[in-house]
Amino acid sequence: MEEVLTNPSAGYYLHQEVFGAAGSFITSPDVSQMFGEMIGIWSVSLWEKMGKPRKLQLVELGPGRGTLMQDLLRSTLTFKDFSKALSIHFVECSPALRKQQRRALQCPGEEKKHEGGDRPAVENSRSQRFETNVSWYLDLKDVPRGVPTIIIAQEFFDALPIHQFQHRLSQKTPVGWCEKLIDVDSRQANPFRFVLSSQPTAATLLYLKKRLNWITAVEEESIHHIEVCPKALQVSQEIAKRVAEDSGGGIIIDYGKDEPVTDSFQAIRNHEFVNVLDKPGTADLSAHVDFAAIKRMVAETASPTVSTYGPIFQQEFLAMLGINVRLEALVKDASDEQGEKLQLGYWRLVGEGPPPWLSEGDDGYKIQGMGKHYRVLAIADSKLGAPACFRQ
Ligand code: SAH
Repeated sequence: MEEVLTNPSAGYYLHQEVFGAAGSFITSPDVSQMFGEMIGIWSVSLWEKMGKPRKLQLVELGPGRGTLMQDLLRSTLTFKDFSKALSIHFVECSPALRKQQRRALQCPGEEKKHEGGDRPAVENSRSQRFETNVSWYLDLKDVPRGVPTIIIAQEFFDALPIHQFQHRLSQKTPVGWCEKLIDVDSRQANPFRFVLSSQPTAATLLYLKKRLNWITAVEEESIHHIEVCPKALQVSQEIAKRVAEDSGGGIIIDYGKDEPVTDSFQAIRNHEFVNVLDKPGTADLSAHVDFAAIKRMVAETASPTVSTYGPIFQQEFLAMLGINVRLEALVKDASDEQGEKLQLGYWRLVGEGPPPWLSEGDDGYKIQGMGKHYRVLAIADSKLGAPACFRQ
């Protein structure tokens, strides 16, 4: 999964236009400027709770086209001390997307050539539009320490590689949990196929055991499939360590569950679900995020100095940040056509199902609200109390 998405010469994220109408899928920042604006309000509020530090690192994991950060920075310019305190840190593996992020924030400088094969390293520039320093890294571990930090992960965790396990049923001796692996059968047109290991694998012992420790025996008995994402746990641990040492917080927005994820591995090409093993590198691969595991990992790493809050639905999160007030303000100054677009974008972010004011056959009726499909989890310095939108 990691290779298919991030391989420097053939990875899905590295060689094509993946987002927006022309790409494989549309994400919330593409839907409406209001999304980045709301994350901006949330970040300013957390910075205020932190005592308005004069230096603040704003880190975004997997910024895609840079739209969220652009909307966040533009809408928070009025909070002068916040803007002045900021430095921007992008964790991004794709040179093609780094280029788009540079453009979004107007960051001049050399664009390093990537002929393929090498992974891009640390890059530094300055945003002319927002007058702030911007740096790029391959891993959160590379982002400097020692400065209060806010970390944003919007649809980043779902792209991290998972292991899938399945309970092997055997008539004679029970084998228990085995790992789903991918086998190559070169006689077939599509040579890849799933197979189940005959015995527990190293990953079963290493990763699954940890995940199962976090549920009861009764819960375990009720599931026959389970996914574990070690990289998600590693990143969560890194966020928790940073928040514990440097103060601040993180926010994770993604589709997923607040319980073990059973079988969610999926591929999307041109806005449609396709077979995950078909033509690797030409479709976006993702899996639902196991928020319950992330919470346990943070608790194991840094409790009680770091707390987790939620997850709550994106609908609730955006509503509490006042997205409806923002919508009204934007619509007031917009043309009819723009106003309609804004309303549809709003519905897509906070609604459920198709827009209720449209009927079948109308343009836009096919739009499905993501309000209860996406969840938001906050990780924050316990001393600060619950961040905006979350209950203590
Ligand atoms: N946040 C954006 C993009 C989401 S797609 C949005 O919502 O529109 C996932 C992003 O994470 C892409 O920018 C991709 O290049 C990046 N990414 C995926 N796996 C990564 C990894 N292992 N290391 C660094 N970046 C990664």
